Amino acid sequence: PKVKAALSSVPRDKFVPKSHIDSAFYNGPLPIGHGQTISQPYIVAIMTDLLELETDDVVLEIGTGSGYQAAILSQLCRQVYSIEYVPALADMAKARFKKLGYDNIQSKTGNGFDGWPDHAPYDGIIVTAAATHIPGPLNEQLKPGGRMVIPLGRPYFHQELTLVKKNEDGELDIKDILGVAFVPFQGERDE
Ligand code: SAH
Repeated sequence: PKVKAALSSVPRDKFVPKSHIDSAFYNGPLPIGHGQTISQPYIVAIMTDLLELETDDVVLEIGTGSGYQAAILSQLCRQVYSIEYVPALADMAKARFKKLGYDNIQSKTGNGFDGWPDHAPYDGIIVTAAATHIPGPLNEQLKPGGRMVIPLGRPYFHQELTLVKKNEDGELDIKDILGVAFVPFQGERDE
């Protein structure tokens, strides 16, 4: 119910380009320029739900894109940090957060592979681009007891939406949730 309420309270039409305004409430992904997409609301809802957010939680998002997912998260936790690889999208999202009054979202341009160590550890980490593996820095920045949601698989093909839970001893419990198709994670490094 909390996730449903968050989805109802964030106006998706404010996050899509004017050219797609008529489809803003269609339950599918839409182009946002620079070869990227705003995710399907159904997938945004599932990923948000899997994070099991508490009102005092701090969340890191990789892949700000339109800012829609960050806005949903901001309704359910204390603070959202979000990183976007494409500078033009990052700038647009930042302006949008300011205009719409999402004061508990801080965003920046950068490679999310490195996470955002200054504000770590995070109760939740959400990756909204398809990665081949869990980036080491993101694992390090996840709090014991925290949850990460990440699409894992081959870019442009099928990926598995994966839920990673870190227990108090730092061990990971990894569970496949469902098949998804996300845009590729850029700037991935081998480890
Ligand atoms: N959460 C977004 C979905 C955007 S699509 C929304 O609600 O609209 C995924 C985004 O991830 C794209 O904007 C893409 O540029 C970004 N991305 C890809 N690789 C990244 C990386 N290494 N670091 C940060 N962002 C990345």
